[in-house]
Amino acid sequence: MATNKTPRQEIPARNPEERNKDFKEVSLGFTEEQAVLEAQRCIACKKKPCCNGCPVEIDIPEFIKLVAKKDYKGAIQKIKEKNNLPAICGRVCPQETQCESLCTLVAKGQPVAVGALERFVADREAEHPGSKEPPVIKEKKDIKVAVVGAGPAGLTAAADLARYGYKVTLFESLSASGGVLRYGIPEFRLPKAILDRETEYIKSLGVEIKYNILIGRTFSIADLFKDGYKAIFLGTGAGLPYFLGIPGENLNGVYSANEFLTRVNLMHAYEFPKYKTPVKIGERVAVVGAGNTAMDCVRVAKRLGAKDAMIIYRRSEAEAPARRAELEHAKEERIEFRFLTAPIKIEGNEKGEVKSMTCLKMELGEPDASGRRRPVPIKGSEYEMPVDTVIIAVGQGPNPLIAHTTKELAVDEKSGELKIDENCMTSIKGIFAGGDITTGEGTVIAAMGAGKKAAAAIDKFFKEK
Ligand SMILES: Cc1cc2nc3c(=O)[nH]c(=O)nc-3n(C[C@H](O)[C@H](O)[C@H](O)COP(=O)(O)OP(=O)(O)OC[C@H]3O[C@@H](n4cnc5c(N)ncnc54)[C@H](O)[C@@H]3O)c2cc1C
Ligand code: SF4
Repeated sequence: MATNKTPRQEIPARNPEERNKDFKEVSLGFTEEQAVLEAQRCIACKKKPCCNGCPVEIDIPEFIKLVAKKDYKGAIQKIKEKNNLPAICGRVCPQETQCESLCTLVAKGQPVAVGALERFVADREAEHPGSKEPPVIKEKKDIKVAVVGAGPAGLTAAADLARYGYKVTLFESLSASGGVLRYGIPEFRLPKAILDRETEYIKSLGVEIKYNILIGRTFSIADLFKDGYKAIFLGTGAGLPYFLGIPGENLNGVYSANEFLTRVNLMHAYEFPKYKTPVKIGERVAVVGAGNTAMDCVRVAKRLGAKDAMIIYRRSEAEAPARRAELEHAKEERIEFRFLTAPIKIEGNEKGEVKSMTCLKMELGEPDASGRRRPVPIKGSEYEMPVDTVIIAVGQGPNPLIAHTTKELAVDEKSGELKIDENCMTSIKGIFAGGDITTGEGTVIAAMGAGKKAAAAIDKFFKEK
């Protein structure tokens, strides 16, 4: 039997030289033996500090105790009391800065691998379908609620509203569910089959999903109310890409991260030639930025055949916002990193195609408003590097369509985010919002937490009516 002094179990991953050429999942997940050993490390702290780091409030020690006893059915039921997307969260949640960062064992060495355990029990349930229990749905109410956007915020809000007994319809502009989980995060980090599996679970709760419907165009918000929806949740995310504003960003061979990843994920470029929708990729690919999005772009570029796939980032590695595990995986896959480097222009050839990028070297100054040390240009340090593809991955802003077509919705002028009150309600009574549309680009679990909070607020709204 393991104790809290037993070292944390290493999550197995595929060989980097093999995996950087295909799109199969990188991380292999715990074996049963590893999962039980890891679960036995948990000391079941009375105050449950790990739970304070979970926006969807999973009873972490309780589910881990069940894993230690090999009661996997009990463990997944415990998780699903709060989280309808466990296999997704077990793969892409930043556990290291959430539940695991608050684990008592941090002080003694290494925290319990909560995320890997969550993934283990979710995958185990899928492999042993006989262990599934039907979810508990409260008495059905004759009240229609619309949810807009099938990303983690919308899916979570829809699932919780269905559990409260409402008739929920989820409207999604794309042809499939998941939001960023589908069109942004690549197959090698989050297989589409997992998304399909967890979407089916949401539907099994009674949620109806209508695809290819763009609210604000196909139907307006007013149309939804006319159609009998008594409340609306907006979870439309932050799908508007930011650019650098430097010369040359309109050349052929420059992509926004959003466009590049959508072509790969949603239009199946990663499955070319099975799907006849390739994405053009050069031999030398520069990805600007160092968040999760940038790591995804650069690792996709490598897998699509780029000889040199590199990250260009104006600060140092310590300030890079990507999850450490993703950064380390990228390094293992022979991604080149140019830190303290900022592009100032992109040059093209006579056909208007990218041929090089000019960069400035930087040094770190005093911390800025974000608390990170500010990058300061080093005079006379310009240099030109040959590249044929540039991908800009420097962040995304809120989707503006619904705010533009629904004049009474209050929006933060600077950020474009929807304004909400402490009950997640927008400036229009009966319209609620949450996730990246109200915060700017965040995390999967924060968006899910917002969806959960909004669903509870909508339930309260009807009870107080
Ligand atoms: C490439 C990339 C990698 C990331 N990696 C991670 C990670 O590893 N871990 C992590 O925690 N976070 C990660 N994030 C951030 C995380 O994915 C987002 O914070 C999260 O998806 C936000 O969820 P959401 O539901 O608010 O919005 P979204 O996921 O953006 O979903 C919004 C949905 O609304 C739909 N929609 C928009 N407008 C309309 C409309 N008018 N009508 C109907 N539907 C509409 C969109 O098509 C979309 O499906 C990553 C982000 C990106 C871009
Ligand atoms: S803080 Fe860590 S050790 Fe304590 S209950 Fe949570 S997971 Fe277990």
